[in-house]
Amino acid sequence: MNDILICLWSANGFDRATQGVIGAGRRLADTTGGQLHAVLIGAEDNTLVEATSLRADHVLVADRPELHEAQPELYLAVLTGICRSLQPRAVLLGSDVYSQELTPRLAHRLEGSSMADGAELTVAEGGALRVRRTAYGGRANAVYELGRQPAVVWLRARGFAPAEPIQDHHGTVTHLDIELPETITARIAERYIEARDGVPLEDAALVVSGGRGLGGPEPFEELRQLAAAIGAEVGASRVACDEGWVPASWQVGQTGKKIAPELYLAIGISGAAQHLLGIADAKVIAVINSDPDAPIFKHAAFGLVEDYRKVLPALTAKLAELATR
Ligand SMILES: Cc1cc2nc3c(=O)[nH]c(=O)nc-3n(C[C@H](O)[C@H](O)[C@H](O)COP(=O)(O)OP(=O)(O)OC[C@H]3O[C@@H](n4cnc5c(N)ncnc54)[C@H](O)[C@@H]3O)c2cc1C
Repeated sequence: MNDILICLWSANGFDRATQGVIGAGRRLADTTGGQLHAVLIGAEDNTLVEATSLRADHVLVADRPELHEAQPELYLAVLTGICRSLQPRAVLLGSDVYSQELTPRLAHRLEGSSMADGAELTVAEGGALRVRRTAYGGRANAVYELGRQPAVVWLRARGFAPAEPIQDHHGTVTHLDIELPETITARIAERYIEARDGVPLEDAALVVSGGRGLGGPEPFEELRQLAAAIGAEVGASRVACDEGWVPASWQVGQTGKKIAPELYLAIGISGAAQHLLGIADAKVIAVINSDPDAPIFKHAAFGLVEDYRKVLPALTAKLAELATR
C-alpha cells in the first residue's frame, strides 16, 4: 500500500506542529501516489476536523471519553487497529512526548520500522522510506532507509512546512466506532501542567535565550524586558536551567525544546552541539557573546562581540522605542 497515515491529537488543535505533520504527510502521500489518512484522537475539535479535511483524503475521528486525555496504552490500541486495517506504508506522528513514546511501540506491534526526530522524508527507488535526522548530538546528518513497512516516524514537526488546502477538495470524515481494551497495564495517574504566560516556546516566532554567560538568574529579568519589547518568548541553555536560574521547561536543545522561530537571539550562549540541535530550524540566529571564538557565531546571521551588560539596556530601549512607532 502507498497510503500514509498521520496521527494527530485533537487537544492540540490546528497548532503549528499539527500543521507540520499534515504538511509532511500530504507531500509524502503525493510522492508515493497514495491517499493521506489522518486519525484525530481525543475530544472532537471541529476546526481541526475541517482544516484537516481540506488537506487530507480521509479524516478518521476517534472520540471517546476515555481518549479525551492522552493515555498511551489506549492510543496505541486505537492506532494499532487502524493500521492493521489500512496497511499504510508510513505512519507519521509529531514530536510531543506521547508521539515519541508511541512511535517505537506502534512499530513493534506492527512489525514495522521506527525512527525518531525525522527532519526530512524521501522515498528510495525501491519504495522504502528514507528519513534524514541529525546524529552525534547534532554534529552530523544521517539518512536512514526504513526497510520494513510500515515505517513509523515521529517528526521534528515544526521543521516541516504546512500544506495549503487543496482546491475544491473536501476529504471524507468518518467517526470511528472503536473498541478499547478493557484492561490496560499502565495509566497516567496524575498530570502537572506548568503555568507559562504567552506562547509555547515551540510556537514562538521570536525567542530571546540566555546562557551561562548571564551569570545568574537576575539578568533573565532583563531578558524578559527585552523579549517583552518585541513580543518574544524567553528560552535558555541547559546550564541556565540546571543552575536553577530559570525553569527546566525553558531549555532549548537536544534534551530540551526544539524550536523554529523566525529569529533566535542567543545571549551568553556558546553554541554547544546539543544546544544547536534545538535551534536547527530557526530562520535567523543572532548572537551577543563576549568571546569572538564562541562556536555559535559560525551559525549566526548577526553577531555582536561584546559583554551583554554593555548592550542589553540600550538594545531594549531602542527596540521598545521602535515598537511604539
Ligand atoms: C547528553 C547531553 C544533552 C545536552 N542537552 C542540552 C540541551 O538540550 N541544551 C543545551 O543548551 N545544552 C545541552 N547540553 C549541554 C551542552 O553541552 C553545553 O554544556 C551547554 O549548552 C552550554 O551552555 P552555555 O552555552 O549557556 O554555557 P557555556 O558553554 O559555558 O557558554 C557561555 C557563553 O557565554 C559567554 N559569555 C560569558 N560572559 C559573557 C558576557 N558577560 N556577555 C556575553 N557573553 C558572555 C561565553 O563567552 C560563552 O560563550 C547537553 C549535554 C549533554 C552531554
